[in-house]
Amino acid sequence: MREETTIAERMARREARALLLVPPSIPAPPGVLDPQMSFRAVRCPWCGVGPACHDERPPNEPPDRPLVTVLACEWLANRAMLAVLAAGRPAGSYLSRAVFAARHRTLGNATDLLAALDAAERWADPLTSAGAVRDAVVPAATRSTHSVVSHFLSPHAGREFDDLNTLYARVRLGAVRAGLGGRSGIAQGPPERGCHPVEPGEIIPIRYSTPGGAHA
Ligand SMILES: [Zn+2]
Repeated sequence: MREETTIAERMARREARALLLVPPSIPAPPGVLDPQMSFRAVRCPWCGVGPACHDERPPNEPPDRPLVTVLACEWLANRAMLAVLAAGRPAGSYLSRAVFAARHRTLGNATDLLAALDAAERWADPLTSAGAVRDAVVPAATRSTHSVVSHFLSPHAGREFDDLNTLYARVRLGAVRAGLGGRSGIAQGPPERGCHPVEPGEIIPIRYSTPGGAHA
């Protein structure tokens, strides 16, 4: 449990760092809601929800954009995507944590799954090379499209993750608060490509998106 706790805390701080990034395009001109990436929804192995029309890269979208694969039943916050935009891998492919978990259901236990997830998210850490990473994982909590309750791992995570989810939310909130107050090093460092760390007191407009579209 101790190792799981350490990993969950590290993942929470990693998401907090991404949440504090500010892209130069915000605020965007009125009516411009282009998320600058593509989403692909795939069928969920737990609840059976599938994509509305296809599971390939959406048509009529530039092929050089980052592609994020999510479960058809989950929703990731737009702000959580800033790490992808900052990564400097325009044509990279990414998975949500839930998709990763779905593809690694044979991993022996929670510790093994979290350790594998942690490794797949390290591309987002400071001073980490943004080199080729196959199916990198987006360091972001998720939620069901029918719920406002978030979970750091999956909309279908078992009860054995409840305590870790509570810990994750507390650590993430504390890290974001500390970053906004300038009392933490999590938002420090040189500006990343296309984004910059938030400044204390800076007002951050937020846009929301769903797979396949974006909404103000
Ligand atoms: Zn599902």
